[in-house]
Amino acid sequence: MIDTLLFLLLFLLAFAGMEGVAWLTHKYVMHGWLWCLHASHHSPRQGPFEKNDLFAFYFALPSILLIWLGVNVNEWCLPIGLGMTAYGFCYFAFHDGIVHRRLPFRYRGKNPYMRRIIQAHYVHHATTTKEGAVSFGFLYARPVAELDAERRALENRVNAGGAA
Ligand SMILES: [Zn+2]
Ligand SMILES: [Zn+2]
Repeated sequence: MIDTLLFLLLFLLAFAGMEGVAWLTHKYVMHGWLWCLHASHHSPRQGPFEKNDLFAFYFALPSILLIWLGVNVNEWCLPIGLGMTAYGFCYFAFHDGIVHRRLPFRYRGKNPYMRRIIQAHYVHHATTTKEGAVSFGFLYARPVAELDAERRALENRVNAGGAA
């Protein structure tokens, strides 16, 4: 019983932790030194894929490795690997499927949580620049009005800096 609870706890911690990892990666890597790959995601897609899709490998490899380790070496790697994989699925379904409509169906739900994270990601995409973006999370978001105010303030600062 304790083992099952611990398994679940590790799974949930890995799942929640991945939102933090995704936030940090998005803010400091994608909008940082790997902007050359992520820029494709802030402009209209040409064809079915974009350079930004390469980040899927970056996230998939450690999950696959942890699942392999969990099965072959240490069982406690398994819930962590599964939690990371589950996050990957939710991220893909939400970000690529629902927000960017890469799946052949439309989400028309009115769930307030879903609306908030969808709108928050639209606020992120309100800019096409590396420096002007806010709202780097995916499955968690602050109130949209707050994010939008932050975006406007940042835009003014970037514009003022550019003009100086
Ligand atoms: Zn971005
Ligand atoms: Zn996006």
